[in-house]
Amino acid sequence: MQGHADHVRADQAAALELSDDGVKDTVDMSLMDVNKEIALRLGERESQMIADIDQALLRIQEGSYGVCARCGKLIDERRLEAVPTARYDAACQALIESANGDDEHSTL
Ligand SMILES: [Zn+2]
Repeated sequence: MQGHADHVRADQAAALELSDDGVKDTVDMSLMDVNKEIALRLGERESQMIADIDQALLRIQEGSYGVCARCGKLIDERRLEAVPTARYDAACQALIESANGDDEHSTL
């Protein structure tokens, strides 16, 4: 994951350098697309966050807050402090993330 992020940063740096040479128009276009994409993803992440918080409030009302939604074990207190909206304990979260692949950074 770290290596991937570094690679993206390097690409962006290269693109910014290119914009100083003669190819500004095309690079500006692609940077605009990238910005649009980032804005879109931030919006998605924000509504996902709100949905997570709604879910957490619902679980507090149901009395199931702090219980792993997958295996039913209590979620570690420190994990809940770090991730108050966590639905799964660390073990199940890791399983779910590895099942989903690593094409997306999790917010949990
Ligand atoms: Zn679990």
